[in-house]
Amino acid sequence: MAKPELVVKKSVVRALCGGGTSLNLSSQRIKDVPKCVSRLTKLSVLLLNNNSISRLPAELLSLRQKLAELNLGNNDLEEVPAVLGHLDALKKLYLFSNQITVVPPEVIGLENLVVLNLNHNHIQRLPPEIKQHLSVLDNKLEEVPVEIGHLASLSEINLTSNKLSQLPQQLYQCKELTKLYAARNKLTSLPEKKLQVLDVAGNKLTMFPFHLLPLKELYCEGNRFIQCELMLSVQDAEVLSLKELVARFVLQEDRKRFSLIHRMLPHYPSLAALLACGSCCAVCLGPFLTTWLECVHFIRLKKDMKMKTLLTVPVRALLCSYKCFNREGHSYYGVATR
Ligand SMILES: [Zn+2]
Repeated sequence: MAKPELVVKKSVVRALCGGGTSLNLSSQRIKDVPKCVSRLTKLSVLLLNNNSISRLPAELLSLRQKLAELNLGNNDLEEVPAVLGHLDALKKLYLFSNQITVVPPEVIGLENLVVLNLNHNHIQRLPPEIKQHLSVLDNKLEEVPVEIGHLASLSEINLTSNKLSQLPQQLYQCKELTKLYAARNKLTSLPEKKLQVLDVAGNKLTMFPFHLLPLKELYCEGNRFIQCELMLSVQDAEVLSLKELVARFVLQEDRKRFSLIHRMLPHYPSLAALLACGSCCAVCLGPFLTTWLECVHFIRLKKDMKMKTLLTVPVRALLCSYKCFNREGHSYYGVATR
């Protein structure tokens, strides 16, 4: 078998002579990327996957004008090579199956980066500068930064097999986000975000949020969804705090276009911000601020949501009072624990 260095040098010389724009050096037992690769300034694709690379020469900086795709998957990188943070033309960067623990913001923040694959590493934290497609499958992430809400172009995120117990509510601000893969984590709740594809199999979910459905694809087996086992319960009316009573009155008045409160509220921004946390009752549609009854209703995904699955799932519903809960003619159930 020819020596790996020789094979590599031959490939580089061939690419140099032919003015090639792509170079495939995958599976060549490479430990050190030869510096002569840096002379291929027209390269747009460089495949270095399936080798034993633990560092990159700084000379690769000369590829910064054209290099759009770099595959360093399945190597021995313990850290992201500094030179990557300067390869401004990169659109796709594959760093899967290494031993990376930290992703420097310079790399995640590369201007043109669309795909960043960090699957199968040891990453514990993400910088908030995430791009359109981010894949961090099989890492050690314990949280997703809340700044994710600022990423207007994020369309797909793969967080499968991490250690996440929750996802930031700010995800709802990511207008382009349609695909969320978060199977095999420890999620107990989900943000209120309309999506097309959701994979949350193998988590600790008990119910779905109200605004999540319908979806084009849903994978949710292996959770702890509330079961529909009926038991009779009639509750006495609760006593609301003065703050809650006033908040409900103000929220109700604010719905009337010509009311004094509706006209005055914009002049009290801190009060308006506080009231923005309010929600409305699933039975009477009346507003409430901080006091509610958490209930579920069971949605048949095929019949009620026109989805392709026959699953019936519990969906969270909030009621304003026991008065509404005890009213007949609705299908919201209180949640009992055993
Ligand atoms: Zn109500």
